[in-house]
Amino acid sequence: MKIQDMANPHIGGLPIYETGKPIEYVAREFGLDPDGILKMASNENPLGPSPKAVEAVSKALGHLNYYPDGGCYDIRRKVAAKLGLKPENLAFGNGSNELITLLAQCFLDKGDESVFGAQSFIVYKLATLLMGATCVSVPMPNLRYDLDMLRDAVTGKTKIVFMTNPNNPTGCVVKQDEIFNFVRSLPENVIFCYDEAYSDFEEEMVDLRPLIAEGRNVICMRTFSKIYGLAGLRIGYSYSSPEMASYFDRVREPFNVNSLAQIGAMAALDDDEFYAKSKRVNFEGRKQFEKAFEETGMEYFSEGGNFVMVKVSDALDTFKKLQRAGVIVRPNFGYALPEWLRITIGTEEQNARCLEELLKAQK
Ligand SMILES: *Cc1c(COP(=O)(O)O)cnc(C)c1O
Repeated sequence: MKIQDMANPHIGGLPIYETGKPIEYVAREFGLDPDGILKMASNENPLGPSPKAVEAVSKALGHLNYYPDGGCYDIRRKVAAKLGLKPENLAFGNGSNELITLLAQCFLDKGDESVFGAQSFIVYKLATLLMGATCVSVPMPNLRYDLDMLRDAVTGKTKIVFMTNPNNPTGCVVKQDEIFNFVRSLPENVIFCYDEAYSDFEEEMVDLRPLIAEGRNVICMRTFSKIYGLAGLRIGYSYSSPEMASYFDRVREPFNVNSLAQIGAMAALDDDEFYAKSKRVNFEGRKQFEKAFEETGMEYFSEGGNFVMVKVSDALDTFKKLQRAGVIVRPNFGYALPEWLRITIGTEEQNARCLEELLKAQK
């Protein structure tokens, strides 16, 4: 029997997530020194990891013979205290990516629909397809959510509505009162999954805790991968009703969050200096990009998150030219935005180098 015939039938048709191109790949492909390559493709923190996290993780290396705490006891209590929630409101994952998949595993079945923006994080689609459920992808005119269209896409079959705010990859931002109205308009049997991967970079963070408190089926997801600079450690968390959170415990692996991730995240939460600096560098870097795009007349979209979108005449060509020059950015072919490149905001020096190479590549 052929292996294709043995596989779970719907798995063979699943798309594969395309990650930002790793530095080592570009180094090999273009014969470059990896140390000189600038990666601005995966919204990673340009300042490196939180120094406090690095210190804590280094100290913990001698305990790697032990399994991690499967219940995430310490980090759970720390995050709960910070958010003013109960430990039972929280669930932890191997990145918030895992939590998105867990949500789909717990709540989506064949015939169910999930609703999300067409230019929104592709993991919502992958998690939905994994469960054999149906994706309802809603257009995002001018790279923005249209909440009326999103609401109109909700049917009797809808189980989950996903939203990222600020959105990845477009960077558009939706205001708190609009989200409250939207969520309150949803039928009771729909879960609203609110992905806050980039909320830390906002001046004013949207706060959906009141919606959870009033009994709405809302689950919010956060990550240590972006503002805390710990993408390589893999840890994120969700907050929701304790009932919803408890479902994840049935599906997740017993040790889904590794011990270094738990320790690193604990320390990062106390690293106020790094947090503030990351936010400031991002704010200033955005202004730097916007100014340069204005001066050169390039079309761009810049609002929230730690990245900007820029429109180029030939995205594939520009993407390749930039790689040859040692700068990795992110094309958006998978999001049906073939002319747009997403650039993660870096330090002033990194941004300047990226902009210089981008302008050269456009000539
Ligand atoms: C980066 C990102 C995440 C976080 O992923 P992790 O698995 O926690 O690294 C989640 N959602 C969106 C939209 C993101 O861009």
